Amino acid sequence: MTLDVAIIGGGFAGIGAAIRLKQKQIHDFALFERGTEPGGTWRDNTYPGAACDIPSRLYSYSFAPNPDWSHTYSGSAEILRYIERMVDDFGLRPFFRFGHNVDGVVWNEQTSLWEITFDNQPPVHARAVVMASGPLANVSFPAIRGLETYEGHKIHSARWDHDYDFTDKKVAVIGTGASGVQIVPELVKVAKSVKVFQRTPGWALPRTNFATRQRTKDIYRRFPQTQTLARQAWFWGHESVALGVVWNSPLTRVVEAVGKLHLRRQVKDPWLRRQLTPGFRAGCKRLLMTSDYYPALQKDNCTLVTWPIARLAPRGIRTVEGIEHHADVIVFATGFDVSKTGTPVPITGRGGRVLADEWSTGAKAYKSISVSGYPNMYFTFGPNSGPGHSSALVYMEAQIDYLVDAISHALAHDVVLDVRADRQRAYNENIQRRLQKTTWNSGCSSWYLTEDGFNATMFPGFATQYVGQLKSVDYDDYTTSAYRPSDKDAAVTATV
Ligand SMILES: Cc1cc2nc3c(=O)[nH]c(=O)nc-3n(C[C@H](O)[C@H](O)[C@H](O)COP(=O)(O)OP(=O)(O)OC[C@H]3O[C@@H](n4cnc5c(N)ncnc54)[C@H](O)[C@@H]3O)c2cc1C
Repeated sequence: MTLDVAIIGGGFAGIGAAIRLKQKQIHDFALFERGTEPGGTWRDNTYPGAACDIPSRLYSYSFAPNPDWSHTYSGSAEILRYIERMVDDFGLRPFFRFGHNVDGVVWNEQTSLWEITFDNQPPVHARAVVMASGPLANVSFPAIRGLETYEGHKIHSARWDHDYDFTDKKVAVIGTGASGVQIVPELVKVAKSVKVFQRTPGWALPRTNFATRQRTKDIYRRFPQTQTLARQAWFWGHESVALGVVWNSPLTRVVEAVGKLHLRRQVKDPWLRRQLTPGFRAGCKRLLMTSDYYPALQKDNCTLVTWPIARLAPRGIRTVEGIEHHADVIVFATGFDVSKTGTPVPITGRGGRVLADEWSTGAKAYKSISVSGYPNMYFTFGPNSGPGHSSALVYMEAQIDYLVDAISHALAHDVVLDVRADRQRAYNENIQRRLQKTTWNSGCSSWYLTEDGFNATMFPGFATQYVGQLKSVDYDDYTTSAYRPSDKDAAVTATV
């Protein structure tokens, strides 16, 4: 099979790209998804309490507004319904190829085509590839000694076991990041006991989640401009927060003051407060948006354990001071295997160059989207595209519009676009220089940084700047060569 465009991944990014391609009258594409349903993050993260921590009005696509968001911050099931509705409303079902697990992507210079291989399906060729496999798609278990020796039940937050009944169970939760603080308040409602194992406390800010009244929804529906205005208000509100969250500035102290006040108001015990007080600048690790977590920790059936974990034992978790904490089930809210140095799948570009080798010390791309030597290939959520203060979808929408413009240009003019190496280098030098002044590079260890402290994940600026740089494709940044075979099927036949 030969396609104009192969999209790898059927989450928010892949679906957004598919919608925009269709709107540009490009219909010869397919979405290759290893799962059996669309939805990515929101198909996989169904743990109790799962929700977005950016307001739904901003955590949605501007080209697919939803007047019916039930709350300021919607839950996982509602976000998944929104995604499924987009798939149906924009007629994307026929474009999905479920159960296609991509295990390699190789450029063929003779045919000017990418070959996409799968672990379980025949290969496919495409003129352009959109890598939309997601930053947080692969779960990560911590490297704790004795992980396999534990005989109780193990559940990862992103692969929830809905058949497991937590009622009256002794539960241990490892991890107190964005997922952990959403899960604990739900588990304390049903479990006999919950022990929360914390390595490092994070900065938590209050999250007030209002239900949206029917009248407001009706207004949004009847006057869509009001919804656009509400989105704009959230957008600019978050942009102002960047001043304290993105840059390590005097305003970071203001964010920290809000965090400390939140902690003081919700936790009266000074010792517990001390245990929950972060020792790094706010924003350095992902901010936690929660008003439920601290109260949950203080329930009679909940205990915070701050001793480091030594190992897992058959009946529970042993901490370094020698106590064994028995548990019927361990919940791993331990995050994801984020590829900051490798690539999500093996990618071989021009002249047999291997992207994983080029990224071995940290991923780099031009404007987070294109990589020199890998023509007609575009990344969503690529290197240095992470927002610390705003919605990933605002960034993704800009990426999608840019890459769809570039792809339609390449298809219309029968060309192959490859970003110039010097432009990519200059771009990255500038990004790394700007990152030095950010909170992420202010001295804590986080999943944003490689072991060597290289930041390959975050964008050091306002969302406005990120979106602005992707407003239009400057074809001067790319080398252009002819797409050789005028008949792409003939091209494939020639290589067989
Ligand atoms: C619990 C949680 C809450 C979050 N909340 C927010 C929030 O409030 N605000 C925010 O901005 N961001 C949030 N995020 C980040 C979130 O990941 C992004 O906002 C967004 O959902 C990513 O979309 P995506 O399409 O890039 O990736 P994904 O949604 O991960 O989709 C990628 C898809 O690619 C598929 N795939 C991966 N590898 C392959 C392969 N080799 N072959 C075939 N298919 C493959 C996967 O199965 C998946 O379906 C959250 C993340 C998590 C985990």
